[in-house]
Amino acid sequence: MSRNVTILGSTGSIGTQSLQVCKNLGDKVIALTANKNSKLLEKQAREYHPRYVAVTDQNAFSDLKIRLKDTDIKVLGGLESLCEVAALPENDIVLNAVVGMVGLKPTLSAITAGKEIALANKETLVIGGELVKSAAQKYRVRILPVDSEHSAIFQCLQGNNPKQLRKIILTASGGPFFGFSAEQLKAVTKAQALKHPNWEMGAKITIDSATLMNKGLEFIEAVHLFDLAPDQIEIVVHRESILHSAVEYNDGSVIAQMGVPDMKIPIQYALTYPNRLSSGVKPLSLTDIKSLTFHQPDYETFYCLSAAKKAIAKGGLLPTVLNGSNEQAVALFLQDKIKFYQIGEAVARAVEEVQTGPLCTLEDIIEADALAREFVLRYFS
Ligand code: NDP
Ligand code: MG
Repeated sequence: MSRNVTILGSTGSIGTQSLQVCKNLGDKVIALTANKNSKLLEKQAREYHPRYVAVTDQNAFSDLKIRLKDTDIKVLGGLESLCEVAALPENDIVLNAVVGMVGLKPTLSAITAGKEIALANKETLVIGGELVKSAAQKYRVRILPVDSEHSAIFQCLQGNNPKQLRKIILTASGGPFFGFSAEQLKAVTKAQALKHPNWEMGAKITIDSATLMNKGLEFIEAVHLFDLAPDQIEIVVHRESILHSAVEYNDGSVIAQMGVPDMKIPIQYALTYPNRLSSGVKPLSLTDIKSLTFHQPDYETFYCLSAAKKAIAKGGLLPTVLNGSNEQAVALFLQDKIKFYQIGEAVARAVEEVQTGPLCTLEDIIEADALAREFVLRYFS
């Protein structure tokens, strides 16, 4: 049952793990993409023999063409090339592991071509939830979650009637600054923020996990993926990252999915659904773990989380403003231009102050994203 897989963002944390999963499953890799990392993309191309590779960055494109000139692999460049490989007729499934809102157009391109999506790129659903869902319905395309919490919820829904669901319990690790006061957050350094207690991830999502924006984005992602009202989702801090999320049904039963924190499990489930094949991941030993803990999140100290709830409650383009302002603020933080605590401050202000109209088209999203980024740049200028 080997399948033809295209991986967008193959040089990232999810992308590299996805390639290992494909290798283990014997899947055929059709296309791989990156932004700038032509060196790693060359290495992956030589190992996995895709038909196409694509990079967004122009210099990386020129470099990659030279690197692969002795092969028959087609090298493409520019953001449009991600859309092109996402829609290749030979794809069975497209795994979108790009970081940020740039993942939206390739997701829509794959859906329009009738290709199943394994979705890690959560920003796609946060900003384009309605558009992505209606396109998926129109082209009868399934969106399979890769995010560990959403994979957990999806797994807990199997064999049950989603109409009999009361709520979902979305777990959060709490990040490296769990229990910190607003005052303590002011002294946080970039090195501390980049060190997640349980997961090895790309820089942007690691910072999102530290501000709790990651959970805010996942909250919105869950609303769209599972057609829920925001008040049907409870966020619970679970420091051990063993219980990846749970679903509560009308009869009071709570079904949870557990496992060691290893993204290869949800990546593989998205690729093999509904089958469960051997993954090589270390088994979970509950007696080694001994205890699991659960806490309320601190909405007052972690502004990003409350801003996300506000954005999805108001809806329209506010989730786009939330995401765009966050992407811009995190970029400034990673460039050492602002402090850690200022990320939440800027996002909360943007959600309050950026004026947007109704969400009708992709252009509306792109415009609201630009307004949010400009707002943050002005805020810190
Ligand atoms: P990384 O930063 O590790 O990788 C991002 C990938 O996207 C890289 O291949 C990168 O290329 C590419 N990329 C970055 N910018 C652009 C761009 N402008 N155009 C095209 N490609 C681009 O991120 P992660 O793998 O950690 O995360 C990917 C997505 O999955 C995110 O949306 C994240 O929230 C989500 N996710 C991640 C988890 C994890 O454990 N890491 C868990 C759950 C969800 P290059 O290498 O050239 O920069
Ligand atoms: Mg997650």
